[in-house]
Amino acid sequence: MQLPEYEVYAIKYGERMGTRGDMFMRGDLHDAPMAMDYFVWLIRDGERAIVVDVGFGQSEGEKRGRTFLRCPTEGLRLLGVEADAVEDVIITHMHYDHAGNLELFPNARFHIQDDELGYVTGRAMTHKVLRHSFRLADVLEMVAMVYGDRVVFHDGDDDFAPGISLHHFPGHARGLQSVRVHTARGWIVLASDAAHYYESMEKEPTFMTHENIFDMHESYRKLVRLGGSLSKIVPGHDPDVLARYPAPSPDLEGIVARLDVEPSR
Ligand SMILES: [Zn+2]
Repeated sequence: MQLPEYEVYAIKYGERMGTRGDMFMRGDLHDAPMAMDYFVWLIRDGERAIVVDVGFGQSEGEKRGRTFLRCPTEGLRLLGVEADAVEDVIITHMHYDHAGNLELFPNARFHIQDDELGYVTGRAMTHKVLRHSFRLADVLEMVAMVYGDRVVFHDGDDDFAPGISLHHFPGHARGLQSVRVHTARGWIVLASDAAHYYESMEKEPTFMTHENIFDMHESYRKLVRLGGSLSKIVPGHDPDVLARYPAPSPDLEGIVARLDVEPSR
């Protein structure tokens, strides 16, 4: 069977300027500035549109000192996708910057790893340091979705649809999943936070937020093995994604990157 070839987009909705010391443990030159971009991703072909992550809302982002540029649903609209028409949303993990707008997708099923929802509703959340990256309202919303028959659970690596598969990469978050998509240039991997930056895969610095350092470092390497080369892997927060990939049209420069075409490097 011929695999579908999807179009894939990264859509920037927020940003933050920090330092290397904010991002990485024992970061070299820890005072050097380091930017972080916030994205949601769109996978589509002629038949369906699948959204990967839903971003944070304005108030939560600003509470945490992030710049909110546009609602992620506005970003999708720039590509002609209305949030209420979306039927499937893959949630890579429950951190506030990935799962903060579930209610804006009223007709969607949400796909999540068993481990992730277990983690954010269980004993780990009695530790303040471990719940810091989650927002209670997002967790409650996701539990309500379970009771409303709107959650599909995945247990480890799983097929999602022809040409789309899910891959469990724990460490940054217990149930973190990356999404592998078949495109005209072959398979590519939307890493989400299995690798925040290209350098996470190249030099393996220890990202500051994690639930298990060993698993996180193992996941960097498994991710690179899955993708095969860095040109096939799209990190979750690297501003360089918008530099390496073209915008689909001039007016979307700096906002949307088209990922199913070869990057410049
Ligand atoms: Zn993130």
